[in-house]
Amino acid sequence: MPVPFHRHELAAEDAAAVAKVLATPFLTSGRVGAAVEERIAEFLDLPHALLVNSWTNGAVATLLALGIGPGDEVIVPAMTFIATANVVALVGATPVFVDVDPETLMMTAEGLEAALSERTRAAIPVHLYGQMAPMRELAAIAARHDIHLIEDAAHCFEGSRDGVRPGALSDVAIFSFYATKNVTCGEGGAVVTRNRDLAERIRQTRLHGMSAGAADRFRGGRYRHWDMVRLGTKANLPDLLAALLPAQIERVEERRRKREALARRYREALAGFAPDLVLPTWVEGVRHAHHLFPVHVAPHRRDGLLARLTESGIGATVNYRALPRTRYWRAFLGEERADHEFPVATAWGEGTLSLPLYPSLREDEQDEVIEKLARLLLEDGGGADDADPATASSAG
Ligand SMILES: *Cc1c(COP(=O)(O)O)cnc(C)c1O
Repeated sequence: MPVPFHRHELAAEDAAAVAKVLATPFLTSGRVGAAVEERIAEFLDLPHALLVNSWTNGAVATLLALGIGPGDEVIVPAMTFIATANVVALVGATPVFVDVDPETLMMTAEGLEAALSERTRAAIPVHLYGQMAPMRELAAIAARHDIHLIEDAAHCFEGSRDGVRPGALSDVAIFSFYATKNVTCGEGGAVVTRNRDLAERIRQTRLHGMSAGAADRFRGGRYRHWDMVRLGTKANLPDLLAALLPAQIERVEERRRKREALARRYREALAGFAPDLVLPTWVEGVRHAHHLFPVHVAPHRRDGLLARLTESGIGATVNYRALPRTRYWRAFLGEERADHEFPVATAWGEGTLSLPLYPSLREDEQDEVIEKLARLLLEDGGGADDADPATASSAG
Protein backbone atom coordinates (compact mmCIF):
# COMPACT_ATOMS: atom_id res chain seq x y z
CA MET A 1 0.00 0.00 0.00
CA PRO A 2 1.61 3.29 -1.06
CA VAL A 3 1.49 6.07 1.55
CA PRO A 4 1.96 9.61 0.20
CA PHE A 5 4.14 12.11 2.08
CA HIS A 6 1.29 14.61 2.20
CA ARG A 7 -2.41 14.81 1.41
CA HIS A 8 -4.31 18.11 1.48
CA GLU A 9 -7.95 18.16 2.51
CA LEU A 10 -9.40 20.99 0.48
CA ALA A 11 -12.59 19.83 -1.23
CA ALA A 12 -15.83 20.79 -2.99
CA GLU A 13 -17.01 23.04 -0.11
CA ASP A 14 -13.83 25.04 -0.53
CA ALA A 15 -14.48 25.44 -4.24
CA ALA A 16 -17.79 27.06 -3.27
CA ALA A 17 -15.93 29.69 -1.21
CA VAL A 18 -13.79 30.53 -4.26
CA ALA A 19 -16.87 30.60 -6.51
CA LYS A 20 -18.41 33.21 -4.22
CA VAL A 21 -15.43 35.49 -4.81
CA LEU A 22 -15.63 34.87 -8.56
CA ALA A 23 -19.24 36.05 -8.48
CA THR A 24 -18.14 39.48 -7.23
CA PRO A 25 -16.45 42.12 -9.42
CA PHE A 26 -13.35 42.20 -7.18
CA LEU A 27 -10.67 39.48 -7.46
CA THR A 28 -7.68 40.91 -5.59
CA SER A 29 -7.32 41.91 -1.93
CA GLY A 30 -10.63 43.18 -0.59
CA ARG A 31 -13.39 42.44 1.88
CA VAL A 32 -12.92 38.67 2.08
CA GLY A 33 -9.28 39.04 3.04
CA ALA A 34 -10.07 41.81 5.53
CA ALA A 35 -12.54 39.50 7.29
CA VAL A 36 -9.96 36.69 7.36
CA GLU A 37 -7.43 39.10 8.87
CA GLU A 38 -9.90 39.86 11.66
CA ARG A 39 -10.43 36.15 12.24
CA ILE A 40 -6.67 35.46 12.46
CA ALA A 41 -6.17 38.37 14.86
CA GLU A 42 -9.02 37.07 17.01
CA PHE A 43 -7.65 33.50 16.91
CA LEU A 44 -4.26 34.67 18.19
CA ASP A 45 -5.68 37.33 20.48
CA LEU A 46 -3.57 40.02 18.76
CA PRO A 47 -4.69 43.41 17.43
CA HIS A 48 -3.22 43.20 13.90
CA ALA A 49 -3.06 40.50 11.21
CA LEU A 50 -2.09 41.15 7.59
CA LEU A 51 -2.51 38.55 4.87
CA VAL A 52 0.39 38.13 2.46
CA ASN A 53 0.93 35.96 -0.62
CA SER A 54 3.74 33.92 0.99
CA TRP A 55 5.83 33.78 4.16
CA THR A 56 8.76 34.89 2.03
CA ASN A 57 7.12 38.03 0.66
CA GLY A 58 5.61 38.78 4.08
CA ALA A 59 9.10 38.66 5.59
CA VAL A 60 10.52 40.94 2.88
CA ALA A 61 7.66 43.40 3.51
CA THR A 62 8.38 43.20 7.25
CA LEU A 63 12.14 43.79 6.89
CA LEU A 64 11.43 46.75 4.57
CA ALA A 65 8.94 48.15 7.08
CA LEU A 66 11.54 47.84 9.85
CA GLY A 67 14.08 49.67 7.68
CA ILE A 68 16.51 46.74 7.72
CA GLY A 69 18.94 46.75 4.78
CA PRO A 70 22.58 47.07 3.73
CA GLY A 71 25.01 47.17 6.67
CA ASP A 72 22.56 45.47 9.02
CA GLU A 73 22.90 41.97 10.43
CA VAL A 74 20.03 39.59 11.13
CA ILE A 75 20.61 36.45 13.19
CA VAL A 76 19.06 33.24 11.80
CA PRO A 77 19.36 29.59 12.86
CA ALA A 78 21.54 27.34 10.69
CA MET A 79 18.79 24.68 10.68
CA THR A 80 15.66 25.92 8.89
CA PHE A 81 14.14 26.26 5.43
CA ILE A 82 16.27 28.41 3.11
CA ALA A 83 13.67 31.19 2.97
CA THR A 84 14.49 32.28 6.55
CA ALA A 85 17.95 33.46 5.48
CA ASN A 86 17.15 34.36 1.88
CA VAL A 87 14.78 37.18 2.86
CA VAL A 88 17.57 38.86 4.85
CA ALA A 89 19.84 38.88 1.80
CA LEU A 90 16.97 39.97 -0.47
CA VAL A 91 16.72 43.30 1.39
CA GLY A 92 20.52 43.71 1.23
CA ALA A 93 21.19 42.86 4.89
CA THR A 94 23.56 40.13 6.11
CA PRO A 95 22.35 36.87 7.68
CA VAL A 96 24.40 35.71 10.66
CA PHE A 97 23.94 31.96 11.15
CA VAL A 98 23.91 30.39 14.61
CA ASP A 99 24.12 26.70 15.41
CA VAL A 100 21.11 25.16 17.11
CA ASP A 101 20.17 23.21 20.23
CA PRO A 102 21.11 19.52 19.81
CA GLU A 103 17.80 18.34 21.30
CA THR A 104 15.27 20.67 19.66
CA LEU A 105 17.31 21.88 16.63
CA MET A 106 16.21 25.47 17.37
CA MET A 107 17.91 28.78 18.15
CA THR A 108 18.93 29.10 21.80
CA ALA A 109 19.29 32.14 24.05
CA GLU A 110 23.04 31.46 24.32
CA GLY A 111 23.37 31.17 20.54
CA LEU A 112 21.55 34.44 20.01
CA GLU A 113 23.57 36.28 22.64
CA ALA A 114 26.90 35.03 21.25
CA ALA A 115 26.03 36.18 17.72
CA LEU A 116 25.10 39.76 18.64
CA SER A 117 27.25 42.57 17.22
CA GLU A 118 27.09 46.34 16.83
CA ARG A 119 25.30 45.76 13.54
CA THR A 120 22.62 43.34 14.73
CA ARG A 121 19.16 44.72 14.00
CA ALA A 122 17.01 41.62 14.33
CA ALA A 123 16.83 37.88 14.92
CA ILE A 124 14.52 35.36 13.25
CA PRO A 125 13.95 32.34 15.53
CA VAL A 126 12.15 29.47 13.80
CA HIS A 127 9.48 27.34 15.49
CA LEU A 128 10.93 24.27 13.84
CA TYR A 129 8.68 21.33 12.95
CA GLY A 130 5.83 22.96 14.92
CA GLN A 131 7.47 23.31 18.33
CA MET A 132 8.03 26.85 19.60
CA ALA A 133 11.48 28.32 20.20
CA PRO A 134 12.17 29.60 23.76
CA MET A 135 10.43 32.93 23.16
CA ARG A 136 10.53 34.23 26.74
CA GLU A 137 14.33 33.94 26.87
CA LEU A 138 14.84 35.22 23.33
CA ALA A 139 12.52 38.19 23.90
CA ALA A 140 14.38 39.14 27.09
CA ILE A 141 17.68 39.27 25.15
CA ALA A 142 16.09 41.17 22.26
CA ALA A 143 14.72 43.78 24.69
CA ARG A 144 18.05 44.13 26.51
CA HIS A 145 19.95 44.70 23.27
CA ASP A 146 17.22 46.65 21.49
CA ILE A 147 16.92 44.37 18.47
CA HIS A 148 13.79 43.27 16.64
CA LEU A 149 12.43 39.76 17.00
CA ILE A 150 10.71 38.26 13.94
CA GLU A 151 9.21 34.80 14.51
CA ASP A 152 9.34 32.36 11.63
CA ALA A 153 6.07 30.68 12.57
CA ALA A 154 5.64 28.91 9.22
CA HIS A 155 5.24 25.61 11.11
CA CYS A 156 3.36 26.93 14.09
CA PHE A 157 0.05 28.70 13.59
CA GLU A 158 -1.67 26.83 16.41
CA GLY A 159 1.14 26.04 18.86
CA SER A 160 2.22 27.60 22.15
CA ARG A 161 4.96 27.32 24.77
CA ASP A 162 4.26 27.95 28.46
CA GLY A 163 1.07 29.68 27.34
CA VAL A 164 2.94 32.00 24.93
CA ARG A 165 1.67 31.95 21.34
CA PRO A 166 3.25 33.33 18.15
CA GLY A 167 3.22 37.12 18.06
CA ALA A 168 2.80 37.53 21.83
CA LEU A 169 6.40 38.50 22.67
CA SER A 170 7.94 39.52 19.33
CA ASP A 171 7.74 42.46 16.94
CA VAL A 172 6.02 40.21 14.39
CA ALA A 173 5.29 36.56 13.76
CA ILE A 174 4.99 35.38 10.16
CA PHE A 175 2.97 32.36 9.03
CA SER A 176 3.04 30.42 5.77
CA PHE A 177 -0.09 29.06 4.14
CA TYR A 178 1.94 27.17 1.50
CA ALA A 179 0.45 23.93 0.10
CA THR A 180 1.86 21.55 2.72
CA LYS A 181 1.52 23.75 5.82
CA ASN A 182 -0.98 23.11 8.63
CA VAL A 183 -3.29 25.85 7.32
CA THR A 184 -3.10 26.37 3.56
CA CYS A 185 -4.55 28.21 0.59
CA GLY A 186 -1.96 26.83 -1.87
CA GLU A 187 0.30 29.86 -1.56
CA GLY A 188 -0.10 32.50 1.13
CA GLY A 189 0.80 33.67 4.59
CA ALA A 190 0.11 36.22 7.31
CA VAL A 191 2.05 38.70 9.41
CA VAL A 192 0.76 39.37 12.93
CA THR A 193 1.91 42.07 15.32
CA ARG A 194 1.02 43.94 18.51
CA ASN A 195 2.48 47.16 17.10
CA ARG A 196 -0.01 49.43 15.32
CA ASP A 197 2.58 51.65 13.61
CA LEU A 198 4.48 48.64 12.34
CA ALA A 199 1.23 47.07 11.08
CA GLU A 200 0.50 50.26 9.12
CA ARG A 201 3.98 50.27 7.59
CA ILE A 202 3.71 46.59 6.60
CA ARG A 203 0.28 47.33 5.10
CA GLN A 204 2.18 49.71 2.80
CA THR A 205 5.30 47.61 2.14
CA ARG A 206 3.18 44.59 1.18
CA LEU A 207 1.69 46.69 -1.63
CA HIS A 208 4.45 48.65 -3.40
CA GLY A 209 4.77 51.14 -0.52
CA MET A 210 1.47 52.77 -1.54
CA SER A 211 -0.55 54.79 0.94
CA ALA A 212 -3.87 53.22 -0.16
CA GLY A 213 -4.58 49.88 -1.84
CA ALA A 214 -7.15 49.44 -4.61
CA ALA A 215 -9.92 48.50 -2.17
CA ASP A 216 -9.21 51.56 0.00
CA ARG A 217 -9.17 54.02 -2.85
CA PHE A 218 -12.93 53.79 -3.29
CA ARG A 219 -13.83 53.50 0.38
CA GLY A 220 -16.85 55.56 1.33
CA GLY A 221 -17.85 55.95 -2.33
CA ARG A 222 -15.27 58.66 -2.90
CA TYR A 223 -12.00 58.28 -4.82
CA ARG A 224 -8.90 58.82 -2.72
CA HIS A 225 -5.55 59.58 -4.35
CA TRP A 226 -2.62 57.42 -3.38
CA ASP A 227 1.02 58.25 -2.92
CA MET A 228 4.14 56.10 -2.62
CA VAL A 229 5.50 56.73 0.85
CA ARG A 230 8.21 54.06 1.20
CA LEU A 231 9.79 51.28 -0.85
CA GLY A 232 7.54 48.23 -0.90
CA THR A 233 7.08 44.91 -2.65
CA LYS A 234 4.04 43.00 -3.96
CA ALA A 235 2.97 40.72 -1.16
CA ASN A 236 -0.81 41.07 -0.88
CA LEU A 237 -3.00 37.94 -0.89
CA PRO A 238 -5.94 37.91 -3.33
CA ASP A 239 -9.44 37.23 -1.96
CA LEU A 240 -9.62 34.19 -4.29
CA LEU A 241 -7.10 32.45 -2.02
CA ALA A 242 -8.05 34.11 1.27
CA ALA A 243 -11.52 32.56 0.85
CA LEU A 244 -10.00 29.11 1.50
CA LEU A 245 -8.71 29.97 4.97
CA PRO A 246 -11.66 30.48 7.37
CA ALA A 247 -12.93 26.88 7.22
CA GLN A 248 -9.47 25.59 8.13
CA ILE A 249 -8.99 28.02 10.99
CA GLU A 250 -12.19 26.62 12.55
CA ARG A 251 -10.75 23.10 12.41
CA VAL A 252 -7.13 23.85 13.17
CA GLU A 253 -7.12 22.45 16.74
CA GLU A 254 -9.05 19.32 15.75
CA ARG A 255 -6.50 18.72 12.99
CA ARG A 256 -3.58 19.42 15.33
CA ARG A 257 -4.92 16.79 17.78
CA LYS A 258 -5.05 14.20 15.01
CA ARG A 259 -1.43 14.91 14.08
CA GLU A 260 -0.45 14.81 17.73
CA ALA A 261 -2.04 11.37 18.20
CA LEU A 262 -0.21 10.11 15.10
CA ALA A 263 3.08 11.65 16.24
CA ARG A 264 2.74 9.89 19.61
CA ARG A 265 2.08 6.59 17.83
CA TYR A 266 5.23 7.02 15.72
CA ARG A 267 7.20 7.91 18.80
CA GLU A 268 6.12 4.83 20.73
CA ALA A 269 6.60 2.50 17.79
CA LEU A 270 10.08 3.83 17.01
CA ALA A 271 11.36 4.16 20.60
CA GLY A 272 13.01 0.74 20.42
CA PHE A 273 15.30 1.85 17.61
CA ALA A 274 17.23 4.41 19.68
CA PRO A 275 20.08 5.27 19.46
CA ASP A 276 20.19 4.26 15.77
CA LEU A 277 17.09 6.36 15.23
CA VAL A 278 16.90 9.71 17.01
CA LEU A 279 13.93 12.07 17.38
CA PRO A 280 13.94 15.75 18.41
CA THR A 281 13.04 16.28 22.06
CA TRP A 282 9.53 17.57 22.76
CA VAL A 283 9.90 20.34 25.29
CA GLU A 284 7.65 20.29 28.35
CA GLY A 285 5.06 23.07 28.38
CA VAL A 286 4.83 23.08 24.58
CA ARG A 287 1.60 22.65 22.66
CA HIS A 288 3.32 21.22 19.59
CA ALA A 289 1.80 22.08 16.20
CA HIS A 290 3.31 18.84 14.75
CA HIS A 291 3.90 20.20 11.28
CA LEU A 292 6.45 17.50 10.41
CA PHE A 293 7.71 14.22 11.87
CA PRO A 294 11.48 14.15 11.32
CA VAL A 295 13.77 11.32 12.43
CA HIS A 296 17.56 11.06 12.30
CA VAL A 297 19.81 8.15 11.35
CA ALA A 298 23.57 7.93 10.89
CA PRO A 299 24.34 10.17 7.87
CA HIS A 300 25.85 7.35 5.77
CA ARG A 301 22.59 5.38 6.05
CA ARG A 302 20.16 8.20 5.33
CA ASP A 303 20.08 8.35 1.53
CA GLY A 304 19.88 4.57 1.16
CA LEU A 305 16.98 4.47 3.60
CA LEU A 306 15.24 7.31 1.79
CA ALA A 307 15.66 5.58 -1.57
CA ARG A 308 14.34 2.25 -0.28
CA LEU A 309 11.36 3.85 1.46
CA THR A 310 10.52 5.66 -1.76
CA GLU A 311 10.88 2.42 -3.76
CA SER A 312 8.44 0.71 -1.44
CA GLY A 313 5.84 3.45 -1.91
CA ILE A 314 6.44 5.39 1.33
CA GLY A 315 6.60 9.14 0.81
CA ALA A 316 9.56 10.34 2.86
CA THR A 317 11.59 13.48 2.27
CA VAL A 318 14.33 15.69 3.75
CA ASN A 319 13.32 18.81 5.76
CA TYR A 320 15.87 20.52 6.08
CA ARG A 321 19.60 20.75 5.40
CA ALA A 322 21.92 23.02 7.36
CA LEU A 323 21.84 26.28 5.41
CA PRO A 324 25.63 26.85 5.62
CA ARG A 325 26.05 23.53 3.75
CA THR A 326 23.98 24.58 0.74
CA ARG A 327 26.12 25.61 -2.22
CA TYR A 328 25.07 29.28 -2.10
CA TRP A 329 25.52 29.92 1.62
CA ARG A 330 28.69 27.81 1.75
CA ALA A 331 30.23 30.07 -0.89
CA PHE A 332 29.05 33.12 1.07
CA LEU A 333 30.58 31.91 4.36
CA GLY A 334 33.65 30.21 2.94
CA GLU A 335 34.18 26.45 3.20
CA GLU A 336 36.17 26.62 6.42
CA ARG A 337 33.44 28.37 8.42
CA ALA A 338 30.55 26.63 6.66
CA ASP A 339 31.93 23.17 7.37
CA HIS A 340 33.03 23.66 10.98
CA GLU A 341 31.02 26.30 12.81
CA PHE A 342 27.63 24.57 12.75
CA PRO A 343 28.23 20.96 13.84
CA VAL A 344 24.75 20.31 15.27
CA ALA A 345 22.82 21.68 12.28
CA THR A 346 25.20 19.93 9.87
CA ALA A 347 24.92 16.52 11.54
CA TRP A 348 21.14 16.79 11.81
CA GLY A 349 20.76 17.92 8.19
CA GLU A 350 22.86 15.04 6.86
CA GLY A 351 20.97 12.33 8.75
CA THR A 352 17.39 13.54 8.87
CA LEU A 353 14.33 12.44 6.95
CA SER A 354 10.64 13.21 7.50
CA LEU A 355 7.85 10.63 7.61
CA PRO A 356 4.23 11.18 6.48
CA LEU A 357 2.19 13.16 9.05
CA TYR A 358 -1.20 14.72 8.26
CA PRO A 359 -4.72 14.51 9.74
CA SER A 360 -6.06 12.12 7.09
CA LEU A 361 -3.18 9.63 7.53
CA ARG A 362 -4.96 6.44 8.64
CA GLU A 363 -3.51 4.20 11.36
CA ASP A 364 -3.18 1.29 8.92
CA GLU A 365 -1.21 3.57 6.59
CA GLN A 366 0.97 4.70 9.47
CA ASP A 367 1.52 1.06 10.49
CA GLU A 368 2.75 0.40 6.97
CA VAL A 369 5.26 3.27 7.27
CA ILE A 370 6.46 2.00 10.67
CA GLU A 371 6.73 -1.61 9.49
CA LYS A 372 8.70 -0.74 6.33
CA LEU A 373 11.00 1.62 8.20
CA ALA A 374 11.59 -0.92 10.98
CA ARG A 375 12.38 -3.69 8.49
CA LEU A 376 14.84 -1.48 6.61
CA LEU A 377 16.55 -0.40 9.83
CA LEU A 378 16.97 -4.03 10.94
CA GLU A 379 18.13 -5.27 7.52
CA ASP A 380 20.56 -2.42 7.38
CA GLY A 381 22.08 -3.86 10.55
CA GLY A 382 22.32 -1.28 13.31
CA GLY A 383 25.37 0.87 12.79
CA ALA A 384 25.47 2.28 16.32
CA ASP A 385 29.26 2.53 16.13
CA ASP A 386 28.78 4.98 13.27
CA ALA A 387 26.15 7.07 15.07
CA ASP A 388 27.08 10.69 14.93
CA PRO A 389 28.35 12.04 18.25
CA ALA A 390 26.82 15.46 17.66
CA THR A 391 23.29 14.09 17.68
CA ALA A 392 23.54 10.65 19.31
CA SER A 393 22.94 12.23 22.70
CA SER A 394 19.65 13.73 21.63
CA ALA A 395 17.62 10.51 21.74
CA GLY A 396 14.50 11.42 23.64
C1 LIG B 1 7.61 27.01 4.22
C2 LIG B 1 8.56 27.79 5.03
C3 LIG B 1 8.88 29.13 4.74
C4 LIG B 1 8.46 29.79 3.47
O1 LIG B 1 7.10 29.86 3.30
P1 LIG B 1 6.49 30.36 1.89
O2 LIG B 1 5.07 30.70 2.26
O3 LIG B 1 6.59 29.22 0.94
O4 LIG B 1 7.26 31.55 1.46
C5 LIG B 1 9.67 29.84 5.62
N1 LIG B 1 10.17 29.26 6.73
C6 LIG B 1 9.93 27.96 7.02
C7 LIG B 1 10.52 27.39 8.26
C8 LIG B 1 9.14 27.19 6.17
O5 LIG B 1 8.95 25.89 6.42
